[in-house]
Amino acid sequence: MEKYTKHFFNNVRKKLGEWETAGSVPHEEVYRFIHSMAGSASVLGLHKIGDLARELLDQHNEKEERMWTVSEVKEELFEIIQYCYHYEEETIEVFPGKQSRDGEEPVVLIIDDDTSFLMYMKEELEKIGWYVVPIANPDKAIMSYYDVKPDCAIIDIYMDGTNGFEVLDFFKKKLKQQFIPTVMVSAENSKEVRIKSYQMGADDFIAKPFDLEEFIVRVKRQMERKKQMEELVLIDELTMVYNRKYLGQAYAQVQSNSARNGDSYCVAVLDIDHFKGVNDRYGHLVGDRVLKGFASHLKTETRIQDTVFRFGGEEFVILFPNTSLKEAYTFVDIIRKGFSQVVFQGDEDFSCTFSAGVAEIADPTKPFDTWLKLADNALYEAKSSGRNVVKVDGKASEHSPHKTMKIAIVDDDPIIRTVMKDIVSKLPGEPHIQYDIQTFQDGAAFVGSDWHGKHPCLVILDGVMPKMDGLEVLENIRSRSNSDRYKVLMLTSRKSEKDISRSLQLGADDYMTKPFKLLELEARLGQMLKRMR
Ligand code: GH3
Ligand code: MG
Ligand code: MG
Repeated sequence: MEKYTKHFFNNVRKKLGEWETAGSVPHEEVYRFIHSMAGSASVLGLHKIGDLARELLDQHNEKEERMWTVSEVKEELFEIIQYCYHYEEETIEVFPGKQSRDGEEPVVLIIDDDTSFLMYMKEELEKIGWYVVPIANPDKAIMSYYDVKPDCAIIDIYMDGTNGFEVLDFFKKKLKQQFIPTVMVSAENSKEVRIKSYQMGADDFIAKPFDLEEFIVRVKRQMERKKQMEELVLIDELTMVYNRKYLGQAYAQVQSNSARNGDSYCVAVLDIDHFKGVNDRYGHLVGDRVLKGFASHLKTETRIQDTVFRFGGEEFVILFPNTSLKEAYTFVDIIRKGFSQVVFQGDEDFSCTFSAGVAEIADPTKPFDTWLKLADNALYEAKSSGRNVVKVDGKASEHSPHKTMKIAIVDDDPIIRTVMKDIVSKLPGEPHIQYDIQTFQDGAAFVGSDWHGKHPCLVILDGVMPKMDGLEVLENIRSRSNSDRYKVLMLTSRKSEKDISRSLQLGADDYMTKPFKLLELEARLGQMLKRMR
């Protein structure tokens, strides 16, 4: 029987492939195809597919005169194709609808050049619901730190080339503003190494080999400590302005003041323009200096009664008490002009600009999010109208997205391509980001295409493909000068340790082994996209 089901799936695959090449399909052919599926699937024990095919047959007339486009056919057959994937990969799961993870799981960064250790840890820690970002190349650790904002970093001490202590030193000394627990691991469990780790500021030292259960408890303790710390701290360590958490308390104050004496408030959201470019050109430390400079400019240029908050990354919020919308606009616009004159030093002198949105807090009994959203909308309007401007909440919140993100699906299997494209297109998006999804039938087609390169691009890359396999594509991507525009999720066919190991060494950002549960893929993609924003 096995042989026949295999043949069945290959037939589906072949047909889909043919149709993709042709671009359009006569109705008669679509009908015949569904008809033959309805007949054979149930015989082969693929009952769900048989049922679906019969349902479809009832909806169509054999004699209809029409041409189908490939996407119409795929849409019509989508459920069947999805079941083909599940039956074939034996990952039959009850379709649970939208139930992806909430993005609240702990995120740990593991930096170790021993890829089999990375793989083992990733598998084990993901079983308990942690999200693991594996890093085989210490040079990449620093970048990842900014992108990922992990809850804990686990660093191997002896790595080829770089010493784990150098990574620790960078985290502790240069980035001392953000508290991220660091746990050193090492096969060398000598007193000297342990002492050095602690002296350099590591929060824990765990000798290899370790007991996994104990390891988890110790790392968990570090993450809990981090959480407790964050609860206590209301000032952003880097910029020394209030942090996002204090915003909640400040708004409670706004509410009570306005109830008592009828004070009126405005809120502004400010976001540095092309800040990623500053990091790319001058490095993250210079980027940090810009953030500090920005915050101190905001503090000196606002009135004593105004409050400045770092909302996150390069986004700041200002609360203006007793201020009309017009006044608030004028204040922020003066700050904008002033800030564009500030000179920063990198490899050369440079200046930055910001865009901002302003909104009035018309009814303080409503939650703060209401006003923040209005100001945010105005900010996006400022961004899409060319940046370096201040916009006032204009109620009409329709505006075009100002950011494009590309998502490429590179896989030689049309079943996977179809199912994957569906998942990707249903991922929750962001209002100001436009997602542009494209599938590629092989590695060479992707590498040769100029569709990508200008915008951030998430590449879902099949490991094994004819012509040019996934590893070669990855190598090609990582040799490009704009390599950090690409995030790569490798799909490795079997649990092939060699392929996974190689792709981590070549700079894949994450991997999944086939067959995977679609829900798992969805969660993973969500995580990666979150990091690309
Ligand atoms: P836009 O004009 O559309 O706002 O573009 P942008 O590049 O400013 O915005 P985007 O949100 O794409 O990039 C923000 C970058 O800020 C990405 C992130 O790596 C960086 N970043 C976030 N937090 C920090 C930080 O604490 N220090 C440094 N140096 N960079 C940070
Ligand atoms: Mg920005
Ligand atoms: Mg931003």
